[in-house]
Amino acid sequence: MAHAGGITLNSKVMVHNLHACGVFGEEERKLSVRAFPAPFNDDRTAFERDRDRVVQARAFRRLAGKTQVFTSRASDHFRSRLTHTIEVAQVARHIASALNLNVDLTETLALVHDIGHPPFGHAGERALDDCLRRHGLRFDHNLHALRIVERFEQRYAGHRGLNLTLGSREGIIKHSRDYSAQDHPELAEYFLSQRPPIEAQLIDLADEIAYLTADLDDGVESGLLEIGHIREHVDILRRSYIAVEHAHPEAEEKYVFHDALQAMQKRLILDLIQTTAANVSRAGAKSLADIRELDHRVAVFSAEAEAERLQEKRYLHETLYTCPALELEHAKAEEVVKELFAFWLNEPEELPEAYFEDVKTEGLARVVADYIAGMTDNFILLQYAEVRRGVRLGRVPFPEHL
Ligand code: MG
Repeated sequence: MAHAGGITLNSKVMVHNLHACGVFGEEERKLSVRAFPAPFNDDRTAFERDRDRVVQARAFRRLAGKTQVFTSRASDHFRSRLTHTIEVAQVARHIASALNLNVDLTETLALVHDIGHPPFGHAGERALDDCLRRHGLRFDHNLHALRIVERFEQRYAGHRGLNLTLGSREGIIKHSRDYSAQDHPELAEYFLSQRPPIEAQLIDLADEIAYLTADLDDGVESGLLEIGHIREHVDILRRSYIAVEHAHPEAEEKYVFHDALQAMQKRLILDLIQTTAANVSRAGAKSLADIRELDHRVAVFSAEAEAERLQEKRYLHETLYTCPALELEHAKAEEVVKELFAFWLNEPEELPEAYFEDVKTEGLARVVADYIAGMTDNFILLQYAEVRRGVRLGRVPFPEHL
């Protein structure tokens, strides 16, 4: 039994045994199929093998150079998209393990969940989407993640892509939302009319839990958020804070805050475990087939936790994500992405050869977006500097203030 800021977390959560609804046995076998046979057999399960392939992918390593919320310019302590990803994997493993689901599949999906993110966090994603809209296309980081694991990772002798299992690929595209077969006929093999396994349903919520905790932490570290102000406006943090303060009346504010963050995170984890188990039981689901046939996802927070989550999310949006210091960075990021998009659109021969080859089949706008989406923050800034200095052939007019 462990105490976390007045919360008791004990092994009783283990009575929520959803093993029968998890990806095991025949269901695991069905979702373990790959487009190409794996080169040799070893002791790993199919999903462990997927996890190892994801960790060794170049796109995974590049997450270290991509912004989560703060760029690394101001401090080395902020989360990058890679450390955020590792935190999501911790949370997701915890939940899957408590519910006796397939932890290997869950971990793989958590590690791969942000692999399709462009540089500069959400500002970069918005900018890329804006660019593509003008060509009748969209940028969606889940669909882009699928393109990465199927096409852009070229490391193996026998095939293009990572050759991940069907279960991992389904989870990549469906971990945060469902896609209709009408809008996405190319995704037909991913059971679009059905819900994904619970292992995949958990990922988006594990992501929320991880960043709701981390962004308060990094926000205070950056000096943009203030502990007293957070306590006043974020109920879920205040409750945890009071409990920790009560247990450690002499402790410094920053340590109480840190413990309160951990306690808050555990509240959300526990809520998700209990609510998911209760939903499965209420739905009478006895197998993965039953979970797939439901008209709703079972992995959700309780109404109370959901309200608190939304309150905190609104708070972060109003006080942190849209604060003047970050908006300035967002505007710069947007400008860099849009100018470079315009540059390669005008000068496609300046694309690396492998991308240029794809223009024939994919179309220029999509290929330029693919190229930009793969870049780290540093790499795209280098490209931008080169283009501006005229090292590149193109001559796109740039605004003077940048
Ligand atoms: Mg994420």
